[in-house]
Amino acid sequence: MIYASDLDRTLIYSLNAIGVPGDASGLVPAEVIDGRTVSYISQQALDMLKELAAKIVFMPVTTRTIAQYRRINLFQETIIPDYAVTSNGGNILVNGVVDHEWRAAVGRLVERGSVPAEEAGRIVRSVVRAEWITSERYCDELFYTFVVHRDSLPLDEITRMAERLDGLGWKVSLQGRKLYIVPEAVNKSDAILHVRRTVRSEPMVASGDSLLDKSLLAAADYAIAPCHGEIFAEQQAGLVNLEYPFTKQSGVFAGDEIMQYVQTIYNNLTALGVGPQ
Ligand SMILES: [Mg+2]
Repeated sequence: MIYASDLDRTLIYSLNAIGVPGDASGLVPAEVIDGRTVSYISQQALDMLKELAAKIVFMPVTTRTIAQYRRINLFQETIIPDYAVTSNGGNILVNGVVDHEWRAAVGRLVERGSVPAEEAGRIVRSVVRAEWITSERYCDELFYTFVVHRDSLPLDEITRMAERLDGLGWKVSLQGRKLYIVPEAVNKSDAILHVRRTVRSEPMVASGDSLLDKSLLAAADYAIAPCHGEIFAEQQAGLVNLEYPFTKQSGVFAGDEIMQYVQTIYNNLTALGVGPQ
């Protein structure tokens, strides 16, 4: 079995997203920078993940850059996955090493299917005014993240901008204060399906919270989402009717329910003798 999961706001949580005080009980640091904890995981979720990761293929699937992924102590020290997808699918790390063949293949698809990054950036800056942007980054030479003053953003115009960019091969996702502008070929599902073919393992369970995770959840046999984030908001607004379950809790402890769900699938498949490995 493969368990492929988004990280931020699904398994690990920054103080902005955690939903409880940082000194609440039942939390473990996941990422420590200069002695300061910047993200947490629930102790219970960690225990379950540790146990499962020893038996199945656990794969982090994140929009973080390679460098941002590598600074998560949890996945360098406590649980060391054989495969990790970073850069929203633009990179695959195999035993921590970048798969250059995959990266080159993605680069070719981006060139073919999306207008150049400079043009996409210009379109964003024509809608999102400079004073609404705290910082801007072109990540791993693949996609943009803009940290924005979310409350200032004219959401109607952002929606229209997203439609325009969609026609030019770029996807838009607004997560908290971060606005992501990503080429269509840089997606989590293509990367995950590539790894799935490589490891020849099935079935696949997935979890994630944002629009950038939708393709990941759709590519899996079983999926679950926390009851916060963009996917949940879409469901709440009645925009979509998704087939997978949502957790009951929001915030960091949604991770407990997600891990319980993965554990249940694993137990059921093992009982049925259906390819748990
Ligand atoms: Mg997330």
